[in-house]
Amino acid sequence: MDYAPPRNLAELSADCAACAALCCVAPAFDKGEDFAIAKLPLTPCMHLQDNNLCRLHADLEDHGYPGCARFDCLGTGQHVVQGLYGGADWRGNPALLADMAESYRRMQRIHEALQMLFLAERLPLDEEQEIARLTLLRKLRPVDGWTPDSLAEAEASGLFTRVRETLATFRSALGG
Ligand code: SF4
Repeated sequence: MDYAPPRNLAELSADCAACAALCCVAPAFDKGEDFAIAKLPLTPCMHLQDNNLCRLHADLEDHGYPGCARFDCLGTGQHVVQGLYGGADWRGNPALLADMAESYRRMQRIHEALQMLFLAERLPLDEEQEIARLTLLRKLRPVDGWTPDSLAEAEASGLFTRVRETLATFRSALGG
């Protein structure tokens, strides 16, 4: 599968079949209202099956996992697995998992930022704000795509701080 950076809100949709269950493996979570058990990072959830499907998928809330039911990766998973790692699965290459998880964490922030920037198109932004929005969109969707290294470099260079600061400048368009 080719990776194409999302161009609109519709393309920020999860395709779990093209992922490798990264959301059920990479992050840690605490036992509580959202999750019935605690889970360590880089560890498959006890409910994840070998086919990368959740055995509780049909009734997550009833089993105490509303956090899973609510979660939306915004298409991050398939873009990391297919676009950055050529369809590799951590099951066949466990040494890849830590690197994949870091890319997943960073790419998720990019997809969240893209969602906000696409939504901001509906705001009455002034010219300066619109230029800032389009400039940031170009940064978040590099022509040659992301790589694990370029994602790490972008984070180290302060990309996510810039995202937060730019989005904060749009508040005036909300009338607040
Ligand atoms: S309960 Fe299901 S959806 Fe939630 S982390 Fe475990 S395997 Fe994934």
